[in-house]
Amino acid sequence: MALSLPSVWLNELTWEEVAVYLRERDTILIPFGTTEQHGPAGPLGLDSYVAIALAEDAAKKAGVLAAPPVWYGDSSHHLGFPGTISLRTETLMQVVYDMVRSLARHGFKRMLLINGHKWTNLPALTSAARNIREFELPGVRTAVADPMYLARGIAGRLKHAIEHHAGELEISHVLYKFPHTIRTGKFSDAACDFDQLVGPFGTTDLFGGGGRDTVDQPWTAAEQKRHAPTGQFSSNRAATAETGRQYHDYMVERLVEFLAWWQTRDAAVDEELP
Ligand SMILES: [Zn+2]
Repeated sequence: MALSLPSVWLNELTWEEVAVYLRERDTILIPFGTTEQHGPAGPLGLDSYVAIALAEDAAKKAGVLAAPPVWYGDSSHHLGFPGTISLRTETLMQVVYDMVRSLARHGFKRMLLINGHKWTNLPALTSAARNIREFELPGVRTAVADPMYLARGIAGRLKHAIEHHAGELEISHVLYKFPHTIRTGKFSDAACDFDQLVGPFGTTDLFGGGGRDTVDQPWTAAEQKRHAPTGQFSSNRAATAETGRQYHDYMVERLVEFLAWWQTRDAAVDEELP
């Protein structure tokens, strides 16, 4: 459903336009990214660009609004590289709480957090999303989407190598949507020495673990810098805008399908409530 408003971005609307939207709809997408190093080829804002691109195109297709992006995330393990700005996990949770509380006050009831950072933002986002529903605002529906799970159906078909931080898929994605931010001349096979960093139980591929049985072991910024000196964890040599387009379109489609399903599912659940 197309929106009759001048923008899907909340920050580009007036309060009166938001009030009009809330007469008909109650959904908002909230993009969460990071400002953290992404190797020699990717900008520090890469994860934020991922979340912004997904939120904007899903919002346009689904006819819903998107909140201004959160450009910071849980990135302590990247602090060995200049420019990285990290929020503590608990700070990020507080950001979610305060955003959800504010939006709920005005009538938003469905809030889909779209994470562009994969793995390390998720504990904060999903815990905050669950806590707020259980303990504070049971009438508010929260959900969290992330490429790591949302693109399972296509990642294996698109990528040519294991996919990890600053790898082929996330670089391709941002190359497609924000080409001026990617240094294509810096594409390389540079990779993390996973065996040295986390041993045989480390996750070498964010889409499925890399065929290993894994144990999640947090590592420090110093350890990371030692074992992934360029900041890049997996090859992005084969990154292309066309791969990014397919990856992006697939996820946007899935988000739109989810939003449609969410609406029906919630209506059914609401009817059952006393
Ligand atoms: Zn990333």
